[in-house]
Parts: sequence; C-alpha cells; structure tokens
Amino acid sequence: MERTLSIIKPDAVAKNIIGKIVDRFESNNLRIAAMKKIKLTKEDAGKFYEVHKERPFFNDLCEYMSSGAVVVMVLEGNNAVAKNRELMGTTNPKEAAPGTIRADFAESIEANAVHGSDSLENARKEIAFFFAEREIL
Ligand code: ATP
Ligand code: MG
Repeated sequence: MERTLSIIKPDAVAKNIIGKIVDRFESNNLRIAAMKKIKLTKEDAGKFYEVHKERPFFNDLCEYMSSGAVVVMVLEGNNAVAKNRELMGTTNPKEAAPGTIRADFAESIEANAVHGSDSLENARKEIAFFFAEREIL
C-alpha cells in the first residue's frame, strides 16, 4: 500500500468537477484517505512548489495556485504514486493520453486540473505539508 498527495487545482474546482475527478480515483482502486477544500496563500503555494522556484513560470504558478479554492487529498492504494500520475496524464494537456484527467478536464499547461506527487519520498513530504496523521484514515 502506498499513499500519495493529490490536489484538484483552482481551474477544476471553479468548473465544479470535483466529483468527476474523485470518481477517476475511486474507479481505479485508489481510496480517499484524507480530503479538504482550502485556499492557499501565495506564500503557501511558493513553499509547496519550492523545487520550481528558479523556473520562469514559478511566480505565475504561485499566483494561479492561490487564485481560488483547491481540494487536497491523500490517495491510498497499490502503487498509488505511479497510478495517480498515470490517471492524471502529462503536464501539458495537449500531449496527455486520451481518457486521462488532464486530457479530459485541463485548460492549459499551467491550469492543468490536478497535481500528483512524483515519488514516494515527495509524497511523504507533501502529505505532511497538508495533513496531520490523525486526519488520514
Ligand atoms: P504537478 O507537480 O502539479 O503534479 P507535474 O509534475 O506534471 O505537475 P511539474 O513539472 O512538477 O509538472 O510542474 C508543476 C506545475 O507547474 C505544473 O503542473 C503546471 O501547473 C506548472 N507548469 C509546469 N511547466 C510549465 C510551463 N512550461 N508553463 C507554465 N506552467 C508550467
Ligand atoms: Mg510535479
């Protein structure tokens, strides 16, 4: 069993498709072990995406991630990290495989509907960034 962090980003929350995205996870053997809707500050977004701080898109990314509510989840299941990434599709929705969340719901390379941890180590860090152990069930 693995745990990974998923975020439904502001574009998808604004489109009222939280349930459609959650269904992709539940229909593919990932359980929602924790879930909350929150609005990040720009500072929160900067801390969360700190690995990208030297990238040219960093400031826009932080503005975007703090522009509206997000839904943060812990997903649990076999190979949860890789499974979630597979269900999400590639960063750029124009290149994402048909049937993936980003191919079906993302607006652009920036407003791309979902985030998913990219390794088990980052999953642990990202889960701890948002949730206390007693909130994960
Ligand atoms: P995420 O970390 O959100 O799950 P990812 O792992 O597919 O996405 P990263 O390379 O980690 O992609 O980029 C983090 C986020 O930064 C992307 O999801 C996207 O919102 C934004 N981003 C990445 N590349 C670009 C770009 N070239 N222009 C604008 N925004 C970008
Ligand atoms: Mg990433």
